[in-house]
Amino acid sequence: MIPDRLAFIDLETTGANPVRDRITEIGIVEVDGDQVTTWNSLVNPERPIPAFIQQLTGINNAMVADAPTFAEVAEALAERLQGRLFIAHNARFDYGFIKNEYQRLGQRFHADVLCTVRLSRKLFPEYPKHNLDSLIVRHHLHTGDRHRALADADLIWQFWRMLKRDRGDDALAGAIQLQLTRPTLPPHLDPVLIDDLPDSPGVYLLYGENDALLYVGKSINLRKRVLSHFAADTREYKEMRLAQEVRRIDWHETVGELGALLLESRLIKESLPIHNRRLRRASDLCAWQLREAAPGDFRPQLVSGRDADFGRSNELFGLFSSKREATNTLRKIAEAYALCPTVLGLEKPVQVGRACFAHQVGKCKGACIGKEPIGVHSARMMAALAKLKLQAWPYPGAIGVVERNDFLDEEDVHVVDGWRFLGTAKCEADIHELLSRPVDAQFDMDTYKLLKSHMTKGKLAIRQF
Ligand SMILES: [Zn+2]
Repeated sequence: MIPDRLAFIDLETTGANPVRDRITEIGIVEVDGDQVTTWNSLVNPERPIPAFIQQLTGINNAMVADAPTFAEVAEALAERLQGRLFIAHNARFDYGFIKNEYQRLGQRFHADVLCTVRLSRKLFPEYPKHNLDSLIVRHHLHTGDRHRALADADLIWQFWRMLKRDRGDDALAGAIQLQLTRPTLPPHLDPVLIDDLPDSPGVYLLYGENDALLYVGKSINLRKRVLSHFAADTREYKEMRLAQEVRRIDWHETVGELGALLLESRLIKESLPIHNRRLRRASDLCAWQLREAAPGDFRPQLVSGRDADFGRSNELFGLFSSKREATNTLRKIAEAYALCPTVLGLEKPVQVGRACFAHQVGKCKGACIGKEPIGVHSARMMAALAKLKLQAWPYPGAIGVVERNDFLDEEDVHVVDGWRFLGTAKCEADIHELLSRPVDAQFDMDTYKLLKSHMTKGKLAIRQF
């Protein structure tokens, strides 16, 4: 069935960020059965409108100077939208803006939301584009002032009528139903969460009884990821248990993926959530370091994070989460390259001056008895270890790895020194604060790997301080 109380809505704003930007105009086409009324109001955004937005919408600072603020239209708007299906093109944008404006006033706004982009995609899957300009051409819609709120709201209303004519009520009702079917949340969670979760990258935290931290996860789309934990069709026992235990969800938005990964890694290590896989303890972290015993004679020596500054030392090979893992790896390398286990310190010599057991079975080239010159053995060992070589921190000091979202004009600066993550800064003052604090972050393997892979991709700007 098609609901009969509808509101076709379009907004103009000062930008694309629903948290930071503000509404400059609201246009609504209200439909009750056969009765159609329109409502339109400029809104004073209480901040300047950027020049390119003024150009796009034709709404300039002078026009909104005497317009009511959102607070002044909030009550009338709520009455108009009350009990109506909220229909907009790319509805999460408009709905997000309205929700945030009410939130600034300390109020909650909620509506059933229908997105006409998704409707178009569903009913016209043969077309690749579903933006408003494409719909105008495709369906011969009559345009008024493009990029003014009421004119664009009217376009969506025209599109709706065309859908009814062209596809019929049943197809339209089916497509609407599909969108309005809400994802299921566990019984203990507030259903409003479904609206509040942002579609942005970030880290989420699931809490259980007594606010015990159950799980920390990250995603480039928080909303999708969190809801996927609770999808009704999940058959995984672990997910089912999590869904039953969860009582509260919290999250931190980030600009990009690296920020989410770094924060997730830090939160898991700091707070050891019940359902996260136990991560390696940083204190057991070790690596092989080459020491020159005599000229040209290099021997591997196991060093831990306490003995060496992993971030800055050269000639380190690893990393390993335990002494055992380090020893096993070196043993495998020795076998693969016919290196001598006694020279490497993996085995004690059977008897001084006698060949090791590996040499007796042809698996050591005889460095233990001088058959292979020790310098040659050292060189082969270095070549064999090369793949495990840790990259020494390539900067003289701390740097900022900059993650930007040009669309939202936002950036996170991840402050890093010696591969250690000091924190994420949003402004110059944050950076200063992070740099002036004593460094207590430990070198850890996950952060090293994350940073190294993201920094070598070369897509992120680096700032040196
Ligand atoms: Zn040997």
